Amino acid sequence: MKDNFGRQITYMRLSVTDLCNLRCRYCMPEDGICKKRHEEILTEEEIILAVQAAASLGVTKLRITGGEPLVRCNILSICQHAAAVEGIEEVCLTTNGILLPELARPLRTAGVSRVNLSLDTLNAKKYAHITRRGTLDEAMAGLEAALSAGFDKVKINSVLIGGFNDDEIISLAELTKKYPVDVRFIELMPMYDNKDFDEKSYIPCSVVLDKLPEAVLQENTKDHGVAKLYRLPGAKGNIGLISPVSAHFCAQCNRIRLTADGKLKPCLHSSDEYSVKGLDFEGMKAQMEQAILAKPAFHAELSATSKSNAGRTMNQIGG
Ligand code: SAM
Ligand code: SF4
Repeated sequence: MKDNFGRQITYMRLSVTDLCNLRCRYCMPEDGICKKRHEEILTEEEIILAVQAAASLGVTKLRITGGEPLVRCNILSICQHAAAVEGIEEVCLTTNGILLPELARPLRTAGVSRVNLSLDTLNAKKYAHITRRGTLDEAMAGLEAALSAGFDKVKINSVLIGGFNDDEIISLAELTKKYPVDVRFIELMPMYDNKDFDEKSYIPCSVVLDKLPEAVLQENTKDHGVAKLYRLPGAKGNIGLISPVSAHFCAQCNRIRLTADGKLKPCLHSSDEYSVKGLDFEGMKAQMEQAILAKPAFHAELSATSKSNAGRTMNQIGG
């Protein structure tokens, strides 16, 4: 289905939980979030019904996210049933990787074709600092597990934070030489009033290119989504630059989001929401049509002083 601005909506980001085993400083408050009651969260049956409704409107690609999707106990069954929905061509998953050593192969068997793993630093102390409770060893074990599970693609997501990991741009980018992975640098988004980050934390993706003058722009690549792709000589994967702050990609936005508590979000940076919780197939489809037609042409400027209007933290939306 097309929205009011001619954008074909083919991609749904599906959050299966707002809970997480980490507490990344840019995403979640230290004390976590007020835990939702079980009955507020979409059941597996409701999730699959929502996927069927989305597929009937032309969604072909799903990204399972959270919170941390791998902490949901029936995640394998959700992935398997979502992948089997008619019209769904691809099921991808975004994870912090901590639980991949036990789940990578079962996820592959369940029909997940691509995995994105979040990794902002290769320094153990900095990893513990930014995630507040994870270890770099666990994340690297997750990466190794993803690489040996036979996914079609493994990508690493690194949120670029001035004064934190801009001194690691080269070492993170060089992971594309060591492993068959893409490394995507994502600009830090000001999601809520977070005292951990000030103006200097928000840096544009262009600094990546300043550090990597040998990177070559990859044109005519099918697999780019919203990322601008570059490649280091001799690398096995690409470097992606995702610039939601310095150069938003609203004109190409083909996505809709469904939160774990059943709210469709037409736009990440708007508090506008349409509930599908408790509805049948036709009810969900009608809400989805409304949500798609409510997609704004673009979102307001984001900056250190102009925060997102999302109205929720990132783990509650599904990044
Ligand atoms: N827990 C999983 C993970 O960390 O990959 C999936 C959910 S997480 C919300 C999805 C992605 O959103 C991660 O790559 C994370 O780094 C990114 N993210 C969270 N908060 C962000 C922010 N304020 N700005 C930019 N990216 C953010
Ligand atoms: Fe958890 Fe992912 Fe948010 Fe980190 S970015 S706190 S791993 S949901």
